[in-house]
Amino acid sequence: MNKGMVLEKSKLSYWLRQLRKEMSLIGPMRGENSDIVFKTVENIHEIVLDCPASIPSPKEFLFPQKEKMFRYSKDGVENLRGNKGRLIFGVRSCDISAITLLDRFYGGKFVDDYYMSRRNNTIFISIGCNNPDITCFCIGLGSGPFLSSGFDIQLSDLGDRYLVEIGSKHGLEIIKDFIHLFSRPKKLDYDDQYEAILSSQARFEKRINLENARQKILSGQVNDSFWEVVAQRCFECGGCVYECPLCTCFNVIDRPYSPTDGVRLRVWDTCLFKGFTKMAGNIWPAEKKIMRTKRWYFHKLIYYPEQFGKFGCVGCGRCTITCPGRIDMATIASKIDMGDRRRKGGGG
Ligand code: SF4
Ligand code: SF4
Repeated sequence: MNKGMVLEKSKLSYWLRQLRKEMSLIGPMRGENSDIVFKTVENIHEIVLDCPASIPSPKEFLFPQKEKMFRYSKDGVENLRGNKGRLIFGVRSCDISAITLLDRFYGGKFVDDYYMSRRNNTIFISIGCNNPDITCFCIGLGSGPFLSSGFDIQLSDLGDRYLVEIGSKHGLEIIKDFIHLFSRPKKLDYDDQYEAILSSQARFEKRINLENARQKILSGQVNDSFWEVVAQRCFECGGCVYECPLCTCFNVIDRPYSPTDGVRLRVWDTCLFKGFTKMAGNIWPAEKKIMRTKRWYFHKLIYYPEQFGKFGCVGCGRCTITCPGRIDMATIASKIDMGDRRRKGGGG
């Protein structure tokens, strides 16, 4: 399914106001310090499109940083799951690509009911990126700047109007009652979208080849002295993990209110933290920092492709913005790739 419609920009606000009567509307807005954050939209005119990547990613609406799983007491267990319908508007293509992969991770062999109940109640309207940030590299991964599938609805900004592509039955549902707002696309609309895609693709400053990095790792060309240097630069702050739309580690903890009742929580965790793999009996498979740092890159560059046929990175660039040690994915993948090219060219 990928049907096209056209919506004049002047009608967007009315459409969103109508949809908001049916479900909560979440969109990108300026937060403190002018950062972009996704939050509940009170005033539609405050939505910011064509903006830098939100921090954190919209992943938090499907897999919250902290969630109550259930309440327990001597009377039994009360499940705290339950989600209302939500429309998340203005999501970037890379984040939609990440959610498509998260769906496979949390909804595959082992179904995570907490994630899936939110997912099944959430509709995404994405927007193709006309102006990628200097940190973006989705173009090398097929995860942006525009998509051909994975979205419920994708908007392409054509100046005075949007080309509206419907990618799922949920997308169709939120259009069908307002069909009078939309018109049929003409050849010019598709031509303009094509121009927008070409123009966006030409603007990318970063061209990162994760496949080259993967091949070099697999062929044993990246030894532990490289990973030792990377590990030395890691402050174990967890910033990369908390902002990555594809990191999925969590911990489960109980918060007792009294000896007989309390709640069970799940909170984001990170494989980069020292205690993450520590087990009873003082078994500690990743005690050394190099093991944890190396594993983060291996998970994204080697294990994800083995399991899903895709990298565990969509090139959103958030870790480039965040990492104080400058060992973000783009930098490390480039170093692995370029290091080998320098060797071929006789350099160091
Ligand atoms: S590894 Fe970095 S660039 Fe890749 S998806 Fe995660 S935060 Fe974005
Ligand atoms: S953001 Fe950088 S320094 Fe912080 S944990 Fe991630 S890799 Fe380490």
